[in-house]
Amino acid sequence: MLELRPNCECCDRDLPPASPEARICTFEHTFCADCAELRFDETCPDCGGGLVVRPIRPEVQLHRFPASLRRVVKAHRPATVQTPRREPERPTGWV
Ligand SMILES: [Zn+2]
Ligand SMILES: [Zn+2]
Repeated sequence: MLELRPNCECCDRDLPPASPEARICTFEHTFCADCAELRFDETCPDCGGGLVVRPIRPEVQLHRFPASLRRVVKAHRPATVQTPRREPERPTGWV
């Protein structure tokens, strides 16, 4: 059974079972959409596998098969450094 972890393993954001923001890899490493897309480029930083949208477990099933309560947080590399926006080149000849 898929382990529905309650948070992003990188930024610790809450990811409830019904959250469309959750991303997961084949080892159930779980991240939020922002981390998956902006930090990790849709690739799991722990195992190198692809991160996909976590399937939503129907509410009725959650009663029998509850989501995990075990929060997992690890240190991950910081967000990809954005290249600083450069000043537009001035046309030559300006004083
Ligand atoms: Zn996150
Ligand atoms: Zn992984």
